[in-house]
Amino acid sequence: MKKKQKYIFVTGGVLSGVGKGITAASIGALLKAKGANVSIQKCDPYLNVDAGLLNPAEHGECFVTKDGAETDLDLGHYERFLDIELTRKNTTLSGRLLSEMIADERAGKFCGKTVQLVPHLTQSIQKSILEAGEGSDVHIVEIGGTVGDYEGLSFIEAIREFAQKMGRQNCLFIHVVYVPFLGTSKEFKTKPAQNALNDLRGFGIVPDSVIVRTEEVASDSVSKKISLFGGVAEENILLMPNVDTVFRIPLNLVKSGIHKLLSDFTGLHNEPDLSSWEDVVRRQISVQTQTVRVGLVAKYMGNEDAYISVVQALKSAAWHSNIGLEVVWINAETATENDFKKVNALVVPGGFGSRGVEGKIAAARYALDNNLPYLGLCLGLQVAVIASARKAGLKDANSTEFSSKCKYDVVYIMDGQAGKESTGGTLRLGDYPAKLVKGSLVENIYNSSNVIERHRHRYEVNQKFLPEIKKGGLLVSGTSPDGKLVEFIEAPECDYFVATQAHPEFRSRPTRPHPLFLGLMKASIAKKG
Ligand code: GLN
Repeated sequence: MKKKQKYIFVTGGVLSGVGKGITAASIGALLKAKGANVSIQKCDPYLNVDAGLLNPAEHGECFVTKDGAETDLDLGHYERFLDIELTRKNTTLSGRLLSEMIADERAGKFCGKTVQLVPHLTQSIQKSILEAGEGSDVHIVEIGGTVGDYEGLSFIEAIREFAQKMGRQNCLFIHVVYVPFLGTSKEFKTKPAQNALNDLRGFGIVPDSVIVRTEEVASDSVSKKISLFGGVAEENILLMPNVDTVFRIPLNLVKSGIHKLLSDFTGLHNEPDLSSWEDVVRRQISVQTQTVRVGLVAKYMGNEDAYISVVQALKSAAWHSNIGLEVVWINAETATENDFKKVNALVVPGGFGSRGVEGKIAAARYALDNNLPYLGLCLGLQVAVIASARKAGLKDANSTEFSSKCKYDVVYIMDGQAGKESTGGTLRLGDYPAKLVKGSLVENIYNSSNVIERHRHRYEVNQKFLPEIKKGGLLVSGTSPDGKLVEFIEAPECDYFVATQAHPEFRSRPTRPHPLFLGLMKASIAKKG
């Protein structure tokens, strides 16, 4: 008989942003290391249809899946921890479900029925869980926000009913709570966590396990108290203080009572093979004698979440190159040569809108003139093209995104994109192939002449200006298979000046850094001498 599929629900209490995403991803990594076929899904109760139009300053990076869904950054954690590629099925937002429901209502599909949050929205949530979990042994579902939020109620009701339908023994509920430390009385306070558990129970869910996030190491008395007042067995309460690296969490889970709970629940009693995570942690904490300074020319200064995949890709490349890494935040709005001089390499990440763009163009120009290792990601390619065209004498060269009437539109809007600016889900999104020029640096780095990368852009290089761009020092080293879109450029006079119209950072993994980031690291080390 086929084994019954298992579902793990991860909810949160007290406050958001305490690491539910990392917890869900780590549980997934552990189960995968035990041999399970794991799938994972994020449910976000807010009313946006996708994450495409959300401000990265508030919400962090917009992660793009291979099929072009614009999602929450937690999907990036999932991909990095589970080393899988997700799709739009793995992200569910109220906004999308509601807009589909309302379209169905308008199309008469409800046959005269009153359309309601319960049962109609809850049913469509359950359907999305079934679809996302299809084919896996264990499906993990993280519910965004905190239990008790108005907009999240339908999701909590949906998973409660789901467990009733699928059999409670096939569903595991894990509640992640935060326990603050009160400096004045020098004690951990469990009351907010107790209240959060009461809230969850009030919705009909008694969790099987509670993960207690704390800033510092807490004593057993905290778990005893939560166990007593929360009605959860003490061995299933895991105290999770801040750690030096999040990649340690799958390793820590194994040492905790949660491992037994997960083993009993899934029937997988074997020891997990976590050697790749041990390797990542070892590399990450090993003391390096040398450090490279990589300048990240950014608009959202110091906001790591807004560039999380880029920062993770840089870190991963550094660990695998046995070198220390210092990410130096360079403010794109105020950047000058002085900032560029102080680093061993420059990265210009993706971005939208004109704020800070001149600083990014200046960064590309400096790298081009001074043979400083450069990696341009999406907008980072476009500013490099502008810099080289200006260097070749086209003083007014620009992208029509930033200067709609510029004389030399070396970057311009793609066919079919005009008029769609500021609208959702309309960019060129997801995986697209590129063919690389024989003998180019990128062909060498990828060790292949055909590559696939994820995209998220509306503008492209205007090939009419290729002679000037070449005169300024840049060659096209990769295009779409039909040659119509520029996908990669490089500067043959520089040791490592590479830019892509894509977002390779989304495919980098802690266990398997992306070749373009590894190449940058190698070049920076060489440059440093
Ligand atoms: N704003 C540019 C475009 O839409 C670059 C986008 C990006 O960097 N992701 O083409």
